[in-house]
Amino acid sequence: MRRNQFARSAVVEWHATIGRRFMSESEMRIAYTEALFRDVNERIAETAERLGADETEFVCECGDPACAERVPASLDEYERVREDATHFLLVPGHENSRIERVVERPRLRLAVVAKFNKLVARTVRRLDPRADSA
Ligand SMILES: [Zn+2]
Repeated sequence: MRRNQFARSAVVEWHATIGRRFMSESEMRIAYTEALFRDVNERIAETAERLGADETEFVCECGDPACAERVPASLDEYERVREDATHFLLVPGHENSRIERVVERPRLRLAVVAKFNKLVARTVRRLDPRADSA
């Protein structure tokens, strides 16, 4: 009886471990994808600033590597998002409720999300291009 119980719980434990590992891998992928889009937007913001534009179209910073949608925002709005390394801007509806939640919706086509998933938050903080200068 004891032996059977142990065997069963070991299987459950094993599945839980496998599940956790797969989940972590997909969360890591999402974090890296979003950090990559953030890097692209940093270049877009630099260019817009150099050209003296107040507003520009950023790329959606969602976790879908195939997403090519644009998010209009002013440079001020963009800067406010970048103040927190765990905040990202994206097209409303592109948020992944498993790892992030919408904290602001300043425009029809602009949603600001915050990562509440610890692993993702830690990863995007580590990849923050502004972390050194802060
Ligand atoms: Zn998107």
